[in-house]
Amino acid sequence: MSVDILAIAAHRDDVEQTCGGTLLKMASLGHSTGILDLTKGELGTRGTAEDRAREAEAAAKIVKASWRQALDIPDGRVENTWENRLKVARVIREQRPRVVILPYWKGRHPDHYTCSTLGYEACFLAGLTKLDPDATANDDSPQHTPQDAGATGNPHRPFKIVYATLYYDVRPTFVVDITEQFEARFEALMAYKTQFSDQEAGKGIFPARDEIRSRIEAMARFYGLMGGVTYAEPFLQKEVGLVDDLTLIPVKSI
Ligand SMILES: [Zn+2]
Repeated sequence: MSVDILAIAAHRDDVEQTCGGTLLKMASLGHSTGILDLTKGELGTRGTAEDRAREAEAAAKIVKASWRQALDIPDGRVENTWENRLKVARVIREQRPRVVILPYWKGRHPDHYTCSTLGYEACFLAGLTKLDPDATANDDSPQHTPQDAGATGNPHRPFKIVYATLYYDVRPTFVVDITEQFEARFEALMAYKTQFSDQEAGKGIFPARDEIRSRIEAMARFYGLMGGVTYAEPFLQKEVGLVDDLTLIPVKSI
C-alpha cells in the first residue's frame, strides 16, 4: 500500500479545486495518487460531514485517486501542533509518496496556509529515523525506540514537495497542462453536490453552477496561457529548475 503522489489539503474539495486535473493526469501517466484531507468538513454551510465523505469518495473516483482519507482535525481549527504533525507524518510513512502536493503557504483561509506549514513539517518528521509517531502521540518529545516501531515506523521523506497556488495570487514557477483533464476535473468538483448544486442554503455566499464553471474555466485558461496551452493548474516549487538540454525547455519566450 503506497502512492507515488500524495496531495494534502485542509478541506474535502480543496484538492479538486487546486490540483484535481494534475492528479488525474498523473494517474493517466501510470502513477498512483492519493488524497489526504485534514478535516471532515463539519462546519460547512451546506451538507453534513457524512455528505462530504460520500461526495469526496465519488470525486476521488473521478480523478482516479487510488487512496483517500480524512483526518479528524477540527474544521476551521487546523493548527500546526505536534499532535497534528504526527497524524500527518504517520500517513506519509504509510503511503510513502515520492511527491507531496501541499497548499501554498499564504492565503485567505487560515486552514489552507496552516496546512502548508503543517504538511511540510510532517514530511520532515516522517523522515526522522528515531521518531516513532505512535509512541509519541501524546508526548511533546520524540522517543528513541526505532526497534519497536509499528506499521508506521519506517521513516520516509518525500523526494519532492510542490505547492498548489491556485487559491492565492502568486506567480507559479510551473504549470501542469490539464487541457485533456479539464472536464473531468470540473465533474470531480461538481461531485460535491451539497456544496455546488444550485439551492437555497447559502445562496448569498455560493455562486450558481454556471458562474462556478466560468470562474474555474477563466482560472484554468489564465494559467494555461502562461504555459502556452489551453488549460493548466499552477504550482510553485522552492527549488530551482535543473536543465540538461537548453533546446528542450518548454514554453515559448517570444
Ligand atoms: Zn478549503
